[in-house]
Amino acid sequence: MTTLSQTAQSEALFARAKAVTPGGVNSPVRAFKSVGGVPRFIASAQGAYLTDADGHRYIDYLGSWGPMILGHNHPAVREAIAEALATGTSFGAPSAREVELAELVCQITGAERVRFVNSGTEATMSALRLARGFTGRKYIVKFRGNYHGHADGLLVEAGSGLLTNAEGELGAAAPSSAGVPEEYAALTLVSEYNDPAALDKLLAERGHEIAAVIFEPVVGNAGVLIPTAEFLAALHRVKAHGTLLIADEVMTGFRLSPSGAAGRLGLQPDLSCWGKIIGGGLPVGAYGGRAEVMDYVSPQGPVYQAGTLSGNPLAMAAGLATLRELQADPSIYDRLDAYGTALAEGLRGAAAEAGVPITVNQIGSMLTAFFVPEGDIRTYTQAARSDTAAFAAWFQAMLAQGVYWAPSQFESIFISGAHTDTELGATLEAAHHAFKGGSI
Ligand SMILES: *Cc1c(COP(=O)(O)O)cnc(C)c1O
Repeated sequence: MTTLSQTAQSEALFARAKAVTPGGVNSPVRAFKSVGGVPRFIASAQGAYLTDADGHRYIDYLGSWGPMILGHNHPAVREAIAEALATGTSFGAPSAREVELAELVCQITGAERVRFVNSGTEATMSALRLARGFTGRKYIVKFRGNYHGHADGLLVEAGSGLLTNAEGELGAAAPSSAGVPEEYAALTLVSEYNDPAALDKLLAERGHEIAAVIFEPVVGNAGVLIPTAEFLAALHRVKAHGTLLIADEVMTGFRLSPSGAAGRLGLQPDLSCWGKIIGGGLPVGAYGGRAEVMDYVSPQGPVYQAGTLSGNPLAMAAGLATLRELQADPSIYDRLDAYGTALAEGLRGAAAEAGVPITVNQIGSMLTAFFVPEGDIRTYTQAARSDTAAFAAWFQAMLAQGVYWAPSQFESIFISGAHTDTELGATLEAAHHAFKGGSI
């Protein structure tokens, strides 16, 4: 196998980018800070593959961080966008595709009302405002290492890029970003994921002040963490306090089953947040749930939330085409599960053969290989024990062999419907070499 060491074009673009954009990227994890080396600038994407500016082709496990469940440049999505494009790109007035996508989302997820926004960040931020408006309470609860976008009150013990760029200071005290006033952070109470007793205790003491508990039903943003049945039961108990349960399904929605983690794990949240897949690769977020709660949103109710480009026709077209494809062929979920399971097994085997201690957490098409000895990794604290230097070396060895893994120990990878046995075989062969400490 050839080594893809020629990165002249990416290096040149990165140098130009750094001169005009902070860190040279528009979202921190893209900068490769925790794995080193030059971030690859992508020229095009097709199916399960990315092609960079130097002409190298990679098997893609980023999936644009989640949206591309059908693979890149899927013809149905491309054609739906082209069709919408021919009729104008933004109206600032309602149009039919918004209604169609809302109907489809309600039908698939069981939500009674849904409101579209432009990103996952907007979805969670708006859902929390709604929860506060509905309950008349100030406090919210989130879990250590869960990431819900970058709204001020959610940048407290947050996962994703905040873990990746922490440079060893994992578990940094709240807030996790400069620029978030302590007063905002003080309204966010933090509990440990997968610790039902801690959640019960917090709600028993302060439930009457807590508007909502927001959670990742399967965590992707600390690496993959899978909830225990006991923890899921404790989450549902928060409702007894008049506290709303908000499932942040921005990553898991339409991925872990047709109706997301809720369908797969039997969750019954009051509100859910979506993003990523719901926009089919264009910028869309959404929040929805019970009508009684959702009807507090303006103009029906007193909780204000708006967006110049919300319900954008191109974005709605891409989301509609994606959800319709998934609905037309639900067997995709069996294929994603089979690929995910085989990849997890293959990685465990290759690592064991090379004597490298890893723990693979996998559910459906989400997977993280933590560089820690085999054990039960259920919390952010356990995940944080990973050997990030060993992960970084492995990541680079994979990249050099044409496999684009998520450039951080604390992220999930994403498998798409375009990944076949060919990609699986090539990935495991590359992993086999990478665990042995070489790329060739
Ligand atoms: C990606 C993500 C978000 C933020 O979505 P953006 O579109 O990046 O703002 C929120 N919650 C979860 C669980 C996510 O994975």
